[in-house]
Amino acid sequence: MQSDILEVVGLCKSFGGVQALRDLSFSIREGEVLGLIGPNGSGKSTTVNLLSGSLPPTGGQIRLGGHRVEALSQWDRVAMGLTRTYQTASVFPEFTVRQHVMLGCEAHRKVSPLAQAFRLKRDKSEEDRVQQKVAQALKLTGLEAEADTVVGVLSAAQQRFLMIATALASNPRVILLDEPAAGMISHERETLSGMIRRIRDTGISVLVIEHHMALIMEVCDRIVVLNFGASIAQGTPAQIRENPAVIDAYLGE
Ligand code: ADP
Ligand code: MG
Repeated sequence: MQSDILEVVGLCKSFGGVQALRDLSFSIREGEVLGLIGPNGSGKSTTVNLLSGSLPPTGGQIRLGGHRVEALSQWDRVAMGLTRTYQTASVFPEFTVRQHVMLGCEAHRKVSPLAQAFRLKRDKSEEDRVQQKVAQALKLTGLEAEADTVVGVLSAAQQRFLMIATALASNPRVILLDEPAAGMISHERETLSGMIRRIRDTGISVLVIEHHMALIMEVCDRIVVLNFGASIAQGTPAQIRENPAVIDAYLGE
């Protein structure tokens, strides 16, 4: 039995009168791909924003490797191994691919002493770490041949892969992907699904939000289904596909 790397317990988020998340609990195991699906407005991006520290929760706990992180900054969470990509690709067009990926390593520098201490326990020397992580991130995302290419000339899909590579360079234990396949055509989605499995096979846990059901069913070990900010089902792809509440709320659309 794999242990849980990330635990979410009773997470709540309100925006004024809108309750975006209600008492949400789930966990991500070590080295698994967990899908987060649900209709538009069901709270998927809010979940990622709370996990990454982009927004504070109204209530509940987020535990990474057993440590509570819900009060820590985004940078502290990255340093502890929890990192994300965004729904919209944002890149520096004048950088080379390699320079951009190195930005992911730089994210470690802005951290508190507490997070530093936590990180140093598992890292090698700074320089080795940067070189190794950049090389591994380029390899996992298939961008090795583009290392010296200027980011601005990459295709839209390659820019999304670059965002994943940059997140990987921060040495994550958990990576959060918000709609990574948005705007991709079929062969690009296939490349992405192979990439997600390779990342998982290195022992990194992946949380993926996606509307593309074929991709979700193919890459996920387990799936959490949200509706109106609450979890209505959790299980394997086969269980989720057959679940009447899920078909009713989402898959039957
Ligand atoms: P999803 O990603 O599943 O489409 P979101 O998490 O973006 O859903 O949104 C969940 C709910 O929270 C929606 O009703 C949305 O309008 C609301 N919401 C999300 N972010 C904000 C915000 N910054 N301010 C106010 N309401 C928000
Ligand atoms: Mg969203």
